[in-house]
Amino acid sequence: MPRKLLVTNALPYANGDIHLGHLVGYIQADIWVRYQRMRGNTVHYVCADDTHGTPIMLRAEKEGISPEALIARVHGEHLRDFTDFGVAFDNYHSTHSDENRAYAEDIYGRLQAAGMIDTRAIEQYYDPVKQMFLPDRFIKGECPKCGAADQYGDNCEVCGAAYAPTELKNPYSAVSGAKPELRTSEHFFFRLSDERAVAFLREWTRGTNEAGARRLQPEAANKMREWLGEVDENKLSDWDISRDAPYFGFEIPGAPGKYFYVWLDAPIGYLASFRNLVERRGGIDLESYTDAARAGEAGTEMVHFIGKDILYFHALFWPAMLHFAGYRTPSQLAVNGFLTVDGAKMSKSRGTFITARSYVTQGLNPEWLRYYFASKSNGTMEDVDLNLDDMIAKVNSDLVGKFVNIASRCAGFIGKRFDGKLGETDAAAVAEFRAALEAGTIARAYEERDFGRALREIMRLADIANQYVNDHKPWELARQDGQDAALHTVCTTALTQFRDLALYLKPVLPALAAQVEAFLRVAPLEWPLEWAPLPAGHAIAGYKHLMTRIERKQVDALLEANRESLAPAAADAKAASSQQRHAEKQQHEAQAAETAMPHISIDDFVKVDLRVARIVAAEHVEGADKLIRLSLDIGETENGQARTRQVFAGIKSAYDPAALVGRLTVMVANLAPRKMKFGLSEGMVLAASDESGANAGLYILSPDSGATPGMRVK
Ligand SMILES: [Zn+2]
Repeated sequence: MPRKLLVTNALPYANGDIHLGHLVGYIQADIWVRYQRMRGNTVHYVCADDTHGTPIMLRAEKEGISPEALIARVHGEHLRDFTDFGVAFDNYHSTHSDENRAYAEDIYGRLQAAGMIDTRAIEQYYDPVKQMFLPDRFIKGECPKCGAADQYGDNCEVCGAAYAPTELKNPYSAVSGAKPELRTSEHFFFRLSDERAVAFLREWTRGTNEAGARRLQPEAANKMREWLGEVDENKLSDWDISRDAPYFGFEIPGAPGKYFYVWLDAPIGYLASFRNLVERRGGIDLESYTDAARAGEAGTEMVHFIGKDILYFHALFWPAMLHFAGYRTPSQLAVNGFLTVDGAKMSKSRGTFITARSYVTQGLNPEWLRYYFASKSNGTMEDVDLNLDDMIAKVNSDLVGKFVNIASRCAGFIGKRFDGKLGETDAAAVAEFRAALEAGTIARAYEERDFGRALREIMRLADIANQYVNDHKPWELARQDGQDAALHTVCTTALTQFRDLALYLKPVLPALAAQVEAFLRVAPLEWPLEWAPLPAGHAIAGYKHLMTRIERKQVDALLEANRESLAPAAADAKAASSQQRHAEKQQHEAQAAETAMPHISIDDFVKVDLRVARIVAAEHVEGADKLIRLSLDIGETENGQARTRQVFAGIKSAYDPAALVGRLTVMVANLAPRKMKFGLSEGMVLAASDESGANAGLYILSPDSGATPGMRVK
């Protein structure tokens, strides 16, 4: 019976870039989803941006845009990053959506009807300047335990102590710098400490799901026992689910000025994204996935991939909310650990806080990372270490040295000697390879998300296939007379084994597998394969190199691109008053936001043909206020004569034409020629400007001395 799976990934917060730490969980989920699909199971794979809350509101304000504009921009960036790493959601939605509002209101209404919502007055810090209540992370002060300055309202990064914001000494608002006041406000609570909720969670966290599998990994179940306590204990507290205006989120029905806390509607975003998919796509029985009464009978499953930092929300609040609102609870939580780089926490100063975008723009192959993360994944909550030297060694040795090597050593002979057509297969060799193949082991490892074990098994098979090629030495057969048939058979046999390996690698390396399918001219590989050797006479495409090696210098460039220099000022700033430091940081961030442009890839950049140009003539243009006509020498000739380009440049306000003659500058040489009133403009010269600043004006660029006309700028 094919399975029917709704698979979700944790929703990234719409307040920052996707980095490699995020990608661990997304790549793991994507591999699992691709594996399930190859097995013929139905999978709906959804995610969304988590868009609500104070940080989003404040960041939008700082950028001078609406929260809606901010989350729309970030949505585009996040989706692009996931797509670049092969993470292929069926739907990537937003928690700021009609579907999410409808689900949040419905679930809240049902919880209220079930007597699971309370209200009570709480005292909280209020920023009198900004006129808002302050979340814990927006209050700073001195640690009550060790006295360290500049610590957040919930815990100290120096001594590790956890405390309430009211315990901080000399607290100040991280938003305005003002001294906060304690004020009272009415909040809504979800009654997690209700004995019904405690009893339900005890049962749920220990239980098995519809398919008879454990809902939680053993380490997660242990954590739950710790949080829930002994049978006669009740260690849970009620959960504060409301926030006061101003807040970016959904207003609570019947409670003006009160909003759902971002963490209430974030996981509901899974359902909202799924509903949005169903409405767009049709043909899916939505309630069979979401309704508690329907879920068992329909045989559907709901699997959440999350990081261990949000286990508390997903294993306590979320199932309890769903259960008491009559919704189906999760079938399984697949919890992953954190990412470390070279054994340490990701660090901006070391350049190991690596963004997804920089990895792509630096020209590294996303499938290298997919392969490496998969090789380090074992289905547990253990942290995953990205050891950069180990990654280079593993990718080069496994993927290039073992896997791709099989095809690169054999395919050429098929093309050159046999007109691109395959021959007979060596039945004995194939039988030996297939006997060594434990497809069941690989499948079980994929199912259990122990991708490292699956890859070790696949590489063991790659060794066998390489041994076959080494034993039969096609390069020697090719030099001997009368060995054509043997050469043909050896190469065909190796390519059949290569095809089988590509099948097993496909969930991890979908792009490489697609290249292999195109090269072998075979239908998309399915699992299990209706196994047959590649047939004699089958024509394959010409071999193109499938994957390059990683070089250490590429990794070094990546680290360099991510290194945020700790300017010398940083040491002084530490000593400076915390408010001043905060103000500087804000200013810095605001400047960064102003100058930031979307990233482009190196491929985008090299499309621009920049050349050093000598200005051989410059003159006013009759009838044009802003333009100067330039004749530019970029080393081109026509019929043996030097040829110049004519460019109309809008620099008259800043330059006297006579002063420009003889100067070197930089031009865009491959800009499409543009017909203007005064003649054809055949390019553009580069100039810097800052219309709004104190240095308003135009500054054309000059190369350093020694540059000559025609040199490429890159
Ligand atoms: Zn401390």
